[in-house]
Amino acid sequence: MSTNQKLIFIMIDGLRYDTAVDNMGYLHHLVEKGRASRYKVLSEVPAMSRPLYEVLLTGTPPYKNGITSNHIVRLSKEESIFHLTKKNGLKNATASYHWVSELYNSAPFNPMKDRIQLNQDKPIQNGIFYWEDHYPDNHLFADANYLRVNHNPDFLYIHSMNVDDDGHRFTADSAGYRNRVIAVDTMLATILPDWLDEEYQIVITADHGMNSDGQHGGTTPADREVPLFIMSSKLEPGIYEEEIPQLQIAPMVCRLLNIDPSDAMQTLKFPGLKK
Ligand SMILES: [Zn+2]
Repeated sequence: MSTNQKLIFIMIDGLRYDTAVDNMGYLHHLVEKGRASRYKVLSEVPAMSRPLYEVLLTGTPPYKNGITSNHIVRLSKEESIFHLTKKNGLKNATASYHWVSELYNSAPFNPMKDRIQLNQDKPIQNGIFYWEDHYPDNHLFADANYLRVNHNPDFLYIHSMNVDDDGHRFTADSAGYRNRVIAVDTMLATILPDWLDEEYQIVITADHGMNSDGQHGGTTPADREVPLFIMSSKLEPGIYEEEIPQLQIAPMVCRLLNIDPSDAMQTLKFPGLKK
């Protein structure tokens, strides 16, 4: 078995599947050249942010973890990937929206106290958090890179918000939404080559999609279908058309990090996974 290999998990809030497929040219360059796999993920419902952050990071469904709406502001009761990495002696870090801090480190969020959290005793050991939905994605990625360079995490979770923000502002059927997705792809094209050179595995996905009313929360493909791109030698590159349940992502991340999943996570069943 190989040793641990570091992982950067990029969660692009509100990025729907078809918009990613149509507009993210750099990521598809990596897919076309056999450097990445692309999957279609079906989100859990309700297709809302806070419940799906908990789904992605704990691999448990909302009825079980209790995070059933954006208005439930409390620490998670589940074992997250932050808990698991720490338990296994790996270092973690995140540059994320403040709700991630509320789920795993400290709730309610106090901007004057909680923006930067560097505490090895907490589930999130190294965190930089923002609370404005228009906090620029490029500033967020600079925050994340600061954590990467200075704290050398094995698991770095990056959570951007501008795609969701522009989806609410302009709807999914708009130049504003599509152009923001292209801007994120361009930003990734600037940053990812360095991270890939340093042999990080990369996971890119979204919590939920966006509909033509500028909202999400329903059950349509626009609400629920999100992309998943993975760059890792543990997977056969290519395009996989079958729908992956979102609850598979947390145990997949554990596999990529070479740590045991929590007891609450689903058994991993993932196309393209090498033996
Ligand atoms: Zn939203």
